[in-house]
Amino acid sequence: MATGNINVSVENIFPLIKKFLYSDHEIFLRELISNATDATLKLKHLINIGEAKVEYGDPIIEVKVDKEGSKLHITDQGIGMTAEEVQKYINEVAFSGAEEFLDKYKDKVEDAGIIGHFGLGFYSAFMVANKVEIITKSYKDEPAAHWTCDGSPEYTLDAHDKTDRGTEIILHIAEDEKEFLEEPRISELLTKYNKFMPIPIKFGTREEANTAGKGDDKKEEKITIDNIINNPTPAWTKKPADLEEEDYKNFYRELYPMQFEEPLFSIHLNVDYPFNLTGVLYFPKLTNDLNIQKDRIQLYQNQVFVTDNVEGIVPEFLTMLRGVIDSPDIPLNVSRSYLQADRAVKQISSYITRKVADKLNSRFKNDREDFEQKWDDIKVVIEYGMLSEEKFFEKAEKFALYPTVDGNYLTFEELQEKVKDLQTDKDDKLVMLYASNKEEQHAYIEAAKEKGYEVLLLDSPIVSHLIQKIEATKENITFARVDADHIDNLIKKDEEQLSKLSDEEKDSLKTLLSETVPQDKFSVQLEAMSSDASPFMITQPEFMRRMKEMQQSGGGGMFGHMPEMYNLVVNTNHELVGQILNTKTRKKQERLIRQSLDLARLSQGLLKGEELTSFIKRSYDMIK
Ligand code: ADP
Repeated sequence: MATGNINVSVENIFPLIKKFLYSDHEIFLRELISNATDATLKLKHLINIGEAKVEYGDPIIEVKVDKEGSKLHITDQGIGMTAEEVQKYINEVAFSGAEEFLDKYKDKVEDAGIIGHFGLGFYSAFMVANKVEIITKSYKDEPAAHWTCDGSPEYTLDAHDKTDRGTEIILHIAEDEKEFLEEPRISELLTKYNKFMPIPIKFGTREEANTAGKGDDKKEEKITIDNIINNPTPAWTKKPADLEEEDYKNFYRELYPMQFEEPLFSIHLNVDYPFNLTGVLYFPKLTNDLNIQKDRIQLYQNQVFVTDNVEGIVPEFLTMLRGVIDSPDIPLNVSRSYLQADRAVKQISSYITRKVADKLNSRFKNDREDFEQKWDDIKVVIEYGMLSEEKFFEKAEKFALYPTVDGNYLTFEELQEKVKDLQTDKDDKLVMLYASNKEEQHAYIEAAKEKGYEVLLLDSPIVSHLIQKIEATKENITFARVDADHIDNLIKKDEEQLSKLSDEEKDSLKTLLSETVPQDKFSVQLEAMSSDASPFMITQPEFMRRMKEMQQSGGGGMFGHMPEMYNLVVNTNHELVGQILNTKTRKKQERLIRQSLDLARLSQGLLKGEELTSFIKRSYDMIK
């Protein structure tokens, strides 16, 4: 038997390892299974190049809990180690690796920005075990070795009678880490980190009915089979050409077993130069709540789960998607701010953006009808992307859709073509009329449609920001909500409406209104409109309303603090207005104005609470 001291500069590295990342002790299992996987893949490689002359077989990795003995076993059928190699790789390489790692990160333990915590390797076993054994037999014709270490720099190294190739790691679980002796806990970890690792992982067994039984003799026969917890060949590791739509859907269900909604479509990522990246992204059905949608993309490295927080790796707007990204080129033991400055990460981020844009474009081109049907579910991501990523904005020009209130979906180019003859303002800009709520703005929408104008339905939460951006990039375009002003003021008309009122009548109407309508809330305008347009109409200037909306959804500056100020547009050609003027008593005139004003407010949803109650009471009194 050989004993020795592991050569480290720190007197005792184990307390440090134990303390390290207390909340993340669970990663030891990922690290040990990664080693077992590497050992198996190395053997495969050596056999392939003719270096190892042994049968590869169907190697698996087995995880076993021995609750009574307080032990956890991780066994592989990989390359194994000779005694000499244990001496070298475990006592020297692994230890110096762990020491170097701790040295580098011990000050940063608190830095939650570090993702992954990769690199601690074999010695992470000491985060949960007070004694570790390695029993290993190399593929080479040499006796097996047995290494033990009880958490001090001392170790023992013996011969062992193990005859089958591979390595068994035995963790003697520490008193305060007993959770790792609970099968459900181990099962949870295996599902989290190892669900898609490339070598089959066995955890326990299960019973299954033997359906292969002979014809008539159908006795219920149970057979015991290995419980393999992983799928070693997940969709993203395959070639896109080998996969059908259905395969992507199945993989989605595998990734999100609790998710019952089908994804809208998938995007297969696959590059190997200048960086290596594979993955499958999915567009899920989205609601308008942007925040609860995040953290659904999972980051893997060589099929090992790293994190489901991909902030800084994919552009913000794509964090609303789901799926998997696997790239060995994303540096893991760095903080997120460093990550964002990393060249490879920047390239990865812009590659993903481009790929998503290209995919959207080809879907739009190949099946426009389907794309239109899905638009309402994907528009938030696309609009957010247009707003935040310049490159995406440019590409989205081709496929971003602008739905009309009548359910037509137009590209921006088509929209421009549609409105160019009828909808221009005094500065010859094209006026894009839009509504944000079909119900609330119904009267305004109808008025616009009557004139033959095209009204868009733009109802996403960030639409005011997007409109702002489009106006900034396109000189000849302006957007106006249908209730921003009365239509004839928004759009230049060739025929001027003649006013039915004389100047004198207009003056007395103005005085009357200014004495009845609260001056601090409404600025009154007289307009000669067609006689079938509303007599009283409340509008809010586009600019002011948009600034307020923008501030509510983040950004926008000082405008949110502006007082609520509306325009009251009075149609001097409407019969009712003439009637008001000709009403005999002042009291009756005031009552008509107040009632009309309230009706106008009501149609804008501005009449609430006590005012609404008294309006309704007054209306009943009038008709009884
Ligand atoms: P890393 O895996 O990053 O090299 P580790 O500390 O985890 O660092 O392991 C150190 C070395 O020990 C490995 O490089 C490998 O040579 C050897 N080793 C660890 N686990 C196994 C195993 N299950 N089978 C064979 N060799 C192993």
